[in-house]
Parts: sequence; structure tokens; C-alpha cells
Amino acid sequence: MRKSILILFSFLFLLAANFVVAQQYDLVLEGGRVIDPETSLDAVRNVGIRDGKIARISAAPLSGRHIIHSGGLVVAPGFIDLHQHGQDLPSQRVKAFDGVTTALEMEIGAPDVATFLHSKQGHSLIHYGTTASHVAARALIFDAPLPGGTILPKSGAATDQPATSDQIERMQQRLRDELDAGALGVGMGIQYTPGATRLEIIDMFRVAAERKLPVYTHLRSAGRIEPGSAVESVEEVIGAAAITGASLHIVHINSTCLRDSLECISLIEGARTRGLDVTTEAYPYIAGMTAINSALFNPGWREKLGIDYGNLVLPDTGEHLTKARFDVLHNSSKQQWVLVFANTQETVDAIIPNPLIMIASDGAEGHPRNAGTYSRVLAQYVREKKTLTLTEALRKMTLLPALMLERSTPAARQKGRLQEGADADIVIFDPQTITDRSTFEKPMEPSVGVQYLLVGGTPVIDEGKLVSDVFPGHALMGPGKSH
Ligand SMILES: [Zn+2]
Repeated sequence: MRKSILILFSFLFLLAANFVVAQQYDLVLEGGRVIDPETSLDAVRNVGIRDGKIARISAAPLSGRHIIHSGGLVVAPGFIDLHQHGQDLPSQRVKAFDGVTTALEMEIGAPDVATFLHSKQGHSLIHYGTTASHVAARALIFDAPLPGGTILPKSGAATDQPATSDQIERMQQRLRDELDAGALGVGMGIQYTPGATRLEIIDMFRVAAERKLPVYTHLRSAGRIEPGSAVESVEEVIGAAAITGASLHIVHINSTCLRDSLECISLIEGARTRGLDVTTEAYPYIAGMTAINSALFNPGWREKLGIDYGNLVLPDTGEHLTKARFDVLHNSSKQQWVLVFANTQETVDAIIPNPLIMIASDGAEGHPRNAGTYSRVLAQYVREKKTLTLTEALRKMTLLPALMLERSTPAARQKGRLQEGADADIVIFDPQTITDRSTFEKPMEPSVGVQYLLVGGTPVIDEGKLVSDVFPGHALMGPGKSH
């Protein structure tokens, strides 16, 4: 009898000890304003993190080995940037200060998926991933593979000539191989490959459709002149999506549709009402940036964009171009980025609050959007203009891109949410002070206001400072890897 009581007591003791251990989290975010755009939670809560996941969200106190006092700060899902070209560490650092925990190269796609994924494994501050690049596949099939470190080809035969049906089949095969290597979908920059016929584009959509993966694309053309207007370009890809069944994401509607952006959004709205899976995004700046020797600047660009040489500015020097200077740079094989001032503030201000618009940066070194996109939306549209509520803005930066990514990988279901069971990719910022500081003159100035940033539960920014030598970023990969 006594023995069994002893056993019972030891059992109860073990149970109690276990209970205490179970309540001990790796990290507790204490007393922050927790916002989750999916469940509309917006309340002061404590968040317990264990093994890189959000284990508990509670109004009651939680005990943790480490505590982050979050009083007065917003605790939100880390921002997901679907459109980030600068995949280098300096860019990742400024993205972190802008609240971004996942930054993906989806517009064009990395030229070689396996090389891209390998180069970033264990070296990435934030999560990463890529589409399979049609632009690079085309360059390869035309025997003009992209030089290392570039994603856009110089204007020439590989961009401007139509492909034979044999070449189109080889591009399709290249895309399949890239999807097998882990790409999240098919990326296209149709304006950079004007030689691609309508049929070639549809055939690339077909590859995405057969794998049930989405197409991310930069449209064929900009501006109002017909044929070749931005409206026609939206029609082309909506048509391709309807014909093939592939999901479609149209990148930076602001910089392609310019003053017709609201019209373009209404076309997307119409397609969605008819049951098509079409989404879009924008960035909050009046200028774009691209390679000056690309096919985007083939003859006719001034008329299409309604701008002149002086609207092109070199990011490094601030030099406004002249015709003579443009001709030299456009014909050079050396890739040079150029800022393209083609939009108005009124247009940008009208687009950003639209409920169909996700925020995506199109970031790369040289343009302030690389460092400032997300903070700028929070500062300008939530705090100053008040055309967005904080939850609406966060929805555009977290849940909407996560839902888009779910078309590519189930891992995205654990992202973009501040919920129990979700990945602990979390931004903790001061809603009163968060502000972009990057400008066209100083494009790499990091934003202020992000006090902490967790990537898979690992602090990357701690008390407003970058943590050195941590690389918690993981790859997001499509289903091809498991074929
Ligand atoms: Zn683009």
C-alpha cells in the first residue's frame, strides 16, 4: 500500500514537472498589440514561441526562457515580398529593417533554380524562393545564356526574334526541369522578350497549368497607344490564364498601367468575378527601375510611356540622360540600372488602398523601394493619409501574399498569419514611428521603427539592431522537388 502511494506521488510529481516544462517557451513576446489579418485579432496578447513556431497566444502571462517586452508595439506576421530581385545580403539586411521575413524572386525568376537555391542555403537572413524563368530559358535556347548575376537579357535576337515551334518546346522542357528543381511557378517578363508570340506565351502558361502552378508576369507593354496598350497586355495574360487554367499574378500594375492602373485593376476584378484566379500587386513609388540595355527600351518606349530621355536617371550619380547618353548605354552589353520616372503620385495614391492590391517591392539596390516599401505604406497610407487601416495594410503585406503562395506550396499556410501553429516569422514595430528613410539619392538607408524581427523564431533584429551571423532563412520550394 505504502509503495503504491509512493509511486502515485512520484507520478504526480513527474506530471507537475512536465506541466511546468510544457509551459516554458523558448521565447515570449509580452504584452504587444497582436494583429492577425485572417482572424481579425487585434488585441494585447502574449505570444509563446517554441521550436520556431507560434505555440501559444494568450491574454494570460506566459513564461519563457527569453522575454521580449512588446508593450506599445505591434506584433504582426513578418511581411512577405513576392517580388524581390536583390537577393544579396545587403538587400536582405534592409528588407529586414523594413519588416520583411520572406522575399521571393517571382517576377522574372532566377536563371538557374538549383544554383540559386544552393547559393542561398545556410547563407540567408530571411526566407527565399524563385520561379522558373521564361526569360532565361529563352536566352538559353537562343544560345545567349544570361551572364552570371543577371536576370534580364540585353536586347537582341534572343529577346526580339520569334521562336520556332522546336525552340518553344525546348523552352517548355527547360521550365519543367526548373520546376523539378524546386521553382514555385513560372516567371515571365514579356516586355523583355517582345519576340515571344502570343502562342509562345500561352505555351509557357500551359507548363504552369500542367503542374497546377501559377504564372507571375510583367506585362507585354505599357501605356495607351494601340495596338500594344497596357489594357491589351492585361487582356493577353488574362486570356492565357482562361485558356490554360493556370493561376496568374500580374506584377507591379502601377508601373505598367500607369495612369490607367485603376482601369487595369477593374479588368482583373472582372476576370475574378468570372471565376479566374488573377491577382496583382503594386509598390508605393512614382519611378520604376530596370536595365537600360533591355528590350523595354526598344524603339517606341518614349511614346508608350509618355516620357523622354530626361525622365531616365542613373541611380548611382543622379545623372538625367540625354539622347546621346541613352544611345551609348542602351547599346552597351554592360548592364546598367536606370530609374524610370513615369508615374504620378495621384495614381500611386489611388492604387495602394485598393483591396485587390498586394504590396510587393520589386526591390534591388539602386531604388529606394528595396529598403523602404513596407514602412512607407505604413507611414504614408496608414498614419498620414489614413487611406488604409493598419489591419488592411498588414493584410496586403502578409495574408494576401501567403494565400498567393499557397498555390505553390503548402508551407505557405504557416506563413502570413499570427496564429497558434504558424511559423514564428514575426515583425514587432512601433506604429507611431515606423518610417522609410531610403530616397532616390540614398536608396539603401534602412527604415526605422522595426524593433524586433523573428525569422523562424530566431531574432534577426533585436532592440532595433541587426543580429550578426544568424542565417535562419529557409527556401520555399514548389512541389517539383518531391516528384
Ligand atoms: Zn517588372
